[in-house]
Amino acid sequence: MTTVNLTNLTKTYPDSGFSVEDFNLEIPSGKITALLGPSGSGKSTLLKLIAGLLTPDNGDLTFDDVSVVGIPAEQRGAVMAFQNNLVFPWLSVGENVAFGLKMRGISKAKRQQQAKEMLNLVQLAGFENRKPSELSGGQQQRISLARALVTQPKVLLLDEPLSNLDAHLREEMRALIQSLQQQFEITTVVVTHDQEEAVILADQIALLFDGKLHQYGEPSDFYQRPTSRRVAEFFGGVNFIDGYATSNKFITDVGIFTTAISDASANTLSIRPEHLQVINTQAENTLGVTLLEQSFMGTYYRYTWQTIQNPELVVISTSTTDLHISIGESTQLLLPTEHLMLLE
Ligand code: ADP
Ligand code: MG
Repeated sequence: MTTVNLTNLTKTYPDSGFSVEDFNLEIPSGKITALLGPSGSGKSTLLKLIAGLLTPDNGDLTFDDVSVVGIPAEQRGAVMAFQNNLVFPWLSVGENVAFGLKMRGISKAKRQQQAKEMLNLVQLAGFENRKPSELSGGQQQRISLARALVTQPKVLLLDEPLSNLDAHLREEMRALIQSLQQQFEITTVVVTHDQEEAVILADQIALLFDGKLHQYGEPSDFYQRPTSRRVAEFFGGVNFIDGYATSNKFITDVGIFTTAISDASANTLSIRPEHLQVINTQAENTLGVTLLEQSFMGTYYRYTWQTIQNPELVVISTSTTDLHISIGESTQLLLPTEHLMLLE
């Protein structure tokens, strides 16, 4: 069990000028933490810093309060899996898994035994003598995972582990990563640009934009309490109404809405599509709308509405049942106070 701490960690690439600056994050022991953010936000840079493949310019990086800055990657006990170049095509599956043990001077008999046990755990028993190229993409990823775990690392680092898999394999790999992570109680850091991947895999998420931490919390926090419009948008938020707040009222060009909270610095009112309710009568916190478009999404219906007072403002609602409203029909949408979020 290892807690990883990043303290004022700074790294600038002289060539591109990109930097992660004064980055602070505590990665809890024995849990899965996702580093989430759009492409180019610095996720892989942070992962390489943790792995020891990059050296920070400033700041500290500790494993259980002991600084690992200056400790070479192979002695640090943090390993990366799921990079294609980590599976050697010329070695057998068994040799690939045993490779890290060979580097540590473990005897051949012991290596083979441990590799075999690990292959059992990743459901590749009996594949020892095959070449990686004879295995499917999903199986190759499992070799990579076995190779990483067989050395009993303190920290497991995964870069986009589910990204290249189809829906079925994705689910299988998610379950495998989670079960191995729990079994080994290994501190795990997952890098991903995909919020869904972060939500289904991680116990907590650190969301990055431009090399900076924007929000840290449990997956549900990002839906229920996004700290900014940018965070809400990244998590699939679509309904944003510009305006300003005075005490617990939010003033917009389509009406005044009562909010449960007051935040004078807010300039955006937001509500998730599943929280909008279609009602026929005008009341407090209702918005007059006309139906523009509807689509059946397989498990729910998605409605696109144009607001009557501001034709440029469009809002989206979802419903698990067909509302039987015709295109062009007008109605009222209720924005329940308890679901209104104030954002900047
Ligand atoms: P992410 O993993 O979030 O997509 P990276 O950490 O790989 O982002 O990269 C962050 C930024 O730093 C990108 O703009 C990338 O082009 C730049 N970058 C990455 N590696 C280098 C490097 N070795 N030299 C210069 N710039 C780099
Ligand atoms: Mg990356």
